Formats: sequence, structure tokens, C-alpha cells
Amino acid sequence: QTIFVPKEPDPSEPRVAGSVESIKKLKSLGFDVVVEAGAGLRSRIPDAEFEKAGARIGTAADGQSADVILKVRRPSPQEIGGYRSGAIVIAIMDPYGNEEAIAALAGAGITAFAMELMPRITRAQSMDVLSSQANLAGYQAVIDAAHEYDRALPMMMTAAGTVPAAKVFVMGAGVAGLQAIATARRLGAMVSATDVRPAAKEQVASLGAKFIAVEDEEFKAAETAGGYAKEMSKDYQVKQAALVAEHIAKQDIVITTALIPGRPAPRLVTREMIDSMKPGSVVVDLAVERGGNAEGAEAGKVVEIGGVKVVGHLNVPGRIAASASLLYAKNLVTFLETMVSKETKSLALNMEDELVKATALTHGGAIVHPAFGGAIE
Ligand code: NAD
Repeated sequence: QTIFVPKEPDPSEPRVAGSVESIKKLKSLGFDVVVEAGAGLRSRIPDAEFEKAGARIGTAADGQSADVILKVRRPSPQEIGGYRSGAIVIAIMDPYGNEEAIAALAGAGITAFAMELMPRITRAQSMDVLSSQANLAGYQAVIDAAHEYDRALPMMMTAAGTVPAAKVFVMGAGVAGLQAIATARRLGAMVSATDVRPAAKEQVASLGAKFIAVEDEEFKAAETAGGYAKEMSKDYQVKQAALVAEHIAKQDIVITTALIPGRPAPRLVTREMIDSMKPGSVVVDLAVERGGNAEGAEAGKVVEIGGVKVVGHLNVPGRIAASASLLYAKNLVTFLETMVSKETKSLALNMEDELVKATALTHGGAIVHPAFGGAIE
């Protein structure tokens, strides 16, 4: 059976759904692997490296005969047209609000899996793309902030005088936020952080950062069974904003990562708060693709508001593409491995498997995921 790794046609997507390690692993599982020429270039993997790992270098036309297509982004209608009915496509499908595109996958007879729907359970940790990519985004957010900040982050005591340590405030201490805290600490900044989930308090403290939050009764109950944040009450938001406003005025760098599943990102940084910051300060909004945590943040841009740089880069994991592709490819292979029979060394898809059930969008010409109108069997 054949696996095809195409070049991502979207120019804003530098990642690739394969790595040298993943190709070797797929070969050992018994697959033939074809990688489209140039697919890895923007992730610093030349064709020759893929070839050495055992892949054949091909063209987009190789999608036609593939049993499995591994991608970063959901395939476009044009790409779908190049796959055979019955093929498996695994990608970050971005299914919410894109029901038409899902219907197109079903219509083409594709069995489509959305990696971002992987349940966050121990068994699936190594397949969790939200974590692998958010972790890198948290790191990159600090690098981007440091780049825009025209001062040093660590305290530097030199013969010519002392540069004070930068004050960094991280809002939202999930996977991305915790990595941002750790990275800013490594660079020598004075770091504080906030979150609405009580579990975050200890994690923030264990990374050596100061925890800032309104810790009332609502805070103590703010975590869902799945470990996610709830949307907070108006009353809480007002109290949170007052506390944050006072704190932000003293910060040099603010990094926001706050998300609530299925809701727009909470607005945490107002225009007034940005105005209260010193000129040359930096705000990096990692939630900009989901509506943004910071007022005035623009998707895909670095804007200046009253001397404060507000950074709204899109596809932040793609800004660190070589690492992001390496981890994403590993997530894919680990998932695919659960669909391969060890005896026959071939695909043995079990639609009853809990990981398959959670991530399968379309199968057998129909939408099968209950969240997108599929029937629960
Ligand atoms: P996320 O991306 O959904 O949100 C980022 C952070 O923003 C969260 O910590 C959230 O609490 C916070 N937030 C939301 N509203 C806020 C507000 N108004 N003010 C401040 N902060 C706010 O979260 P995530 O990074 O995906 O992580 C969510 C949880 O899932 C964490 O507890 C994480 O440890 C857990 N997790 C578990 C697994 C696993 O078990 N396999 C894997 C990854 C993450």
C-alpha cells in the first residue's frame, strides 16, 4: 500500500506532513512512500533526505494511486479531485464552520481524519497536534516578542551600565502559555502569568513565574472535566480586567494565548491597557486567528498602537516550520500505526476504535462525525 506526502499548495503553509524519521517508520510498517518533489524544502528537508529515508520522489499526480495521503492542511477541491475514492486523508482539517468542505470530502468518497479532534487522553498524547504545535507556538511567541522589543530581555550588568530585565506577562497558561513562560524565563525575563483555571496556578509557580488572578469561588470551579476553561461571567471579567489593567501598565511584553473551546477568544487586553504601556512595549496575540485576545491586533500583521507593537502573526507554528513538521509528522505516524495490522502489515481500519471515532469526519461517501451532522451508529 502506498502513502503520499504532497507539497502543501497553500503558500502560507511551510510545514510538511513528513520527516526523515516518519518516512523510515512508515517504510518499516510495510508501506511504499511517495513524497512530492520539494515538499520538505520550507521545513529544511531536501528531497534527497526523503529519498535516503526510503521514499520515492514524485509529483502531485501520485496522489491518484495513494491509499493514504498525509497532509498538513485540509485538501482543496482541486487536490481532492486528484485522489481516488476510498483513499484515507489525514490532516488538520479545520472542520468548524467549513461544513461544505467536509461534504466535498464525503462526496469524493474520501475517509478523512481531523487530527485536531484527537481526544486528550493518555493513549493519544503522542498524537496530539494541538499540543505539539501549541508548544512550539508558545516558544515562537517569545522569540517574536524579543525580536520586536528593542531591548535585551535578561538583566545585563556591564562596565558600561546595567540593562534591566524585561517584565513579561503571559495570559492563558495552557500548553502554549506554559512554554512561553519557560522560554521567557530561559531568556532571563521577569515572568508573571494569569489563567482562569485553578490547576494553572501550580504549573505557573513550578516554572518560577508569579501567578496573578482573581481567585474567587468562580475561579475555583472554572475548569471543565476535559481540562479546558469555561467562559467566565461578566462579573468575573470585570474583576479580572481591573487586576490585569494595573499589572499590564508595568509590563514590557505581554503574550496572550487564551482560548475557550467552541467560543471566540476572550478579549483580555483593551485599547486602554495598551495605551497604559510604555512606548516600545510589545503585545503578541497568539489567539488572533480566533478573534484575538488583544484589541487592535490584526491577523497577519505587526501594528503599532501608541508606540506599542501589537503582533498578530498567522500560523505561528509555521514560523518554526522545521521543528513543527518534525513533531507533526510524528503525531501522524503514531496515529496511522494504530490503523495498521501487525500481522498483515496493511491497513485494517476499525471504525469502532475510540481514536478513529473521535477524528473520522467522512467515510464511505458520508459524513460520519456526529458534531458535523453524521449519524452516531
Ligand atoms: P486552550 O488552548 O484551549 O486555552 C489556552 C489557555 O487559556 C487555557 O489554559 C485556558 O484556561 C486559558 N484561558 C481561557 N480563558 C481565559 C481568560 N479569560 N483569562 C485567562 N486565561 C484564559 O488550552 P490548552 O493549551 O489546549 O490546554 C487546556 C488544558 O488541557 C490544560 O489543562 C492542559 O494541561 C490540558 N491538556 C491535556 C492533554 C492530555 O492530557 N493529553 C494534552 C494537552 C493539554
